[in-house]
Amino acid sequence: MSGVVVVGGGLAAGTAVTVLRENGYAGPVVLVAAEDHLPYERPPLSKGYLLGDDPIDVVYLHDRAWYAEHGVELRLGEPATAVDRAAGVVRTAAGELPYDRLVLATGAVPRRLRVADESGRPVSYLRTIEDARRLRAALAGAPRVAIVGGGWIGLEVAAAARAAGAQVTVHEAAALPLLAVLGPEVARVFADVHRAHGVDLRLGSAVSPADLRGADHVVVGVGAVPQTALAAAAGLPVDDGVLVDAHLRTADPAVFAIGDVANVDHPVLGRRVRVEHWQTAIDHGTAVGRTLAGDATAMTAQPYFYTDQYDLGMEYVGSPGLAGYDRVVVRGDTREPRFTAFWLRAGTVVAGMHVNDWDAIDPIRALVGQAVDAERLADAGAELGALADEVAAG
Ligand SMILES: Cc1cc2nc3c(=O)[nH]c(=O)nc-3n(C[C@H](O)[C@H](O)[C@H](O)COP(=O)(O)OP(=O)(O)OC[C@H]3O[C@@H](n4cnc5c(N)ncnc54)[C@H](O)[C@@H]3O)c2cc1C
Repeated sequence: MSGVVVVGGGLAAGTAVTVLRENGYAGPVVLVAAEDHLPYERPPLSKGYLLGDDPIDVVYLHDRAWYAEHGVELRLGEPATAVDRAAGVVRTAAGELPYDRLVLATGAVPRRLRVADESGRPVSYLRTIEDARRLRAALAGAPRVAIVGGGWIGLEVAAAARAAGAQVTVHEAAALPLLAVLGPEVARVFADVHRAHGVDLRLGSAVSPADLRGADHVVVGVGAVPQTALAAAAGLPVDDGVLVDAHLRTADPAVFAIGDVANVDHPVLGRRVRVEHWQTAIDHGTAVGRTLAGDATAMTAQPYFYTDQYDLGMEYVGSPGLAGYDRVVVRGDTREPRFTAFWLRAGTVVAGMHVNDWDAIDPIRALVGQAVDAERLADAGAELGALADEVAAG
């Protein structure tokens, strides 16, 4: 019996092997990871660990003993070099690993930026434990930090660099940070928060070599590229990620793909989506773990993510997609900041978020995907929980 081989050492892979065992899968399980670390999650690398508040240990899903106790064989620091689907084996430098079912959880890597790489300045990208260690050390000794990219990682690093006492400049080509995700109404809040903390935001033009000349350290956060090479070389369909169905199955029924690398035909959203977020890695790992343990589980959850920057915590649910939205409803005070925001398209909530209003997340989850009365949603006097209950009751 050859069992399940999981390729990857991140949150998706680690969740998959955990859920396989939790759901009673009794066959062999092997986890093959390129990085020489126990499976780990990445959010603390740009938050608690980078700020110096948390030790690195917070990132690991389990200690080493857990894998031994649960019969999960770890092949760490041993990248999978090929998948031979006809023979049903994964190849590594150490040999061949046979599988009945294969899970690809190879994640994504930072997109490189030439203007930074050729700047002559020390440059950081942030993805791995080693990247975070180097960046944390660099921030401690860099008075002037230039960050390229006003996305989630760039802004979280900006907050950590300010906490370390650096003079921080963020270069973002769009007119506002996070503009493509949040739209102008809410992206402005993030711009204001960073300016209030002394970050110099340079918006609306691509970064030039001259912009980076004065920096002691450059950090690049301009997106990530899914690691599809293994799947593509094995002849599996790839298009911005490995293409999978709602059960996370590739064109080969014995091969699955999960997490950042998976481009899913999402049954609730009604379109393909590739999501690079923590909760999605957990949801995919959970769904595939259950499916392979015998309980076929589709990926139906709406995308969810969170961020922490300074004293701003936020959670976001949904995915407006390319069709976008035609109305934004903001409830609460965006200057405090403590508020909720909803994005609607043709009367349906396509996304919702809160900033520093943690009780709101359950009603937000209940409202996303539902048709609502936008005027009532906009009415500050109408309680959010009651609106969610009404929608649930039909
Ligand atoms: C610094 C940082 C902060 C983040 N913060 C947040 C946050 O606050 N909120 C949020 O929602 N999301 C956040 N994310 C995103 C989140 O971490 C990712 O969505 C998540 O890591 C995806 O998990 P994954 O297992 O799919 O991929 P990954 O974590 O990328 O893991 C994939 C692993 O597969 C390995 N691998 C690749 N190829 C092979 C091979 N051929 N053989 C063996 N192994 C291979 C890689 O080395 C890697 O270790 C953050 C990401 C980063 C980098």
